[in-house]
Amino acid sequence: MRFDIITVLPKLLDSPFAHSILQRAQNKGLCEIHVHNLRDYAVNKQKSVDDYPYGGGSGMVMQIAPFAACIDQLISERNYDEIIYMTPDGETLNQEIANGLSSGENFIILCGHYKGIDQRIRDIYVTREISIGDYVLSGGELPAAILVDAIVRVIPGVLSDETSALSDSFQDGLLDAPIYTRPVDWNGHKVPDILLSGHEAKITAWRHEQQLIRTKQRRPDLLND
Ligand code: SAH
Repeated sequence: MRFDIITVLPKLLDSPFAHSILQRAQNKGLCEIHVHNLRDYAVNKQKSVDDYPYGGGSGMVMQIAPFAACIDQLISERNYDEIIYMTPDGETLNQEIANGLSSGENFIILCGHYKGIDQRIRDIYVTREISIGDYVLSGGELPAAILVDAIVRVIPGVLSDETSALSDSFQDGLLDAPIYTRPVDWNGHKVPDILLSGHEAKITAWRHEQQLIRTKQRRPDLLND
């Protein structure tokens, strides 16, 4: 799988992809992440990528030309499953969307800044618009990193124990069960006996029951779905 992320702040994306599961996925050859500096595609001498909004109002708007030049270059090199714009007015990211995208091959992700990007980029190029939640951030880089992480960790072979992604919250429509590790007793706070019983079937049943209880308490909307 390949991601091409277009941003004015490529440095912001160095760290999220250089550690842990995302780094290992790249080292194993399961995904490639290419970050493109939008300023390299700026058309004027000042290398500006934004301009004042038509019709007035506050905030700058990211121009078409640099995005178009970068996207045209990429789509001339390979086919893309989706050209995704990270935006608060897109569909809200969830596990189902991440699972669905994880079967794709190539993705372009556009990171906005300031007031956002010229609507015509969205009309002409963008095939999918994704939000990471109902709040506004200053740029699309952190949302892009979140989207890539959510997709990459469900690619088969990325997590060492493949079943561990499958047992995470949301995968079966339920939140995850409570988890414990050593010591058995922390100042009188004990691990539930059932987990020490060694009785696999009972443990599985207990975990499922806990998932239901937790989901009912915290996210009853998931059960209604
Ligand atoms: N004026 C826009 C917000 C612009 S915020 C609006 O009201 O909808 C600047 C950039 O940050 C956006 O272009 C987008 O790429 C990114 N961004 C901010 N919040 C986001 C969110 N919740 N999900 C995804 N991207 C977001």
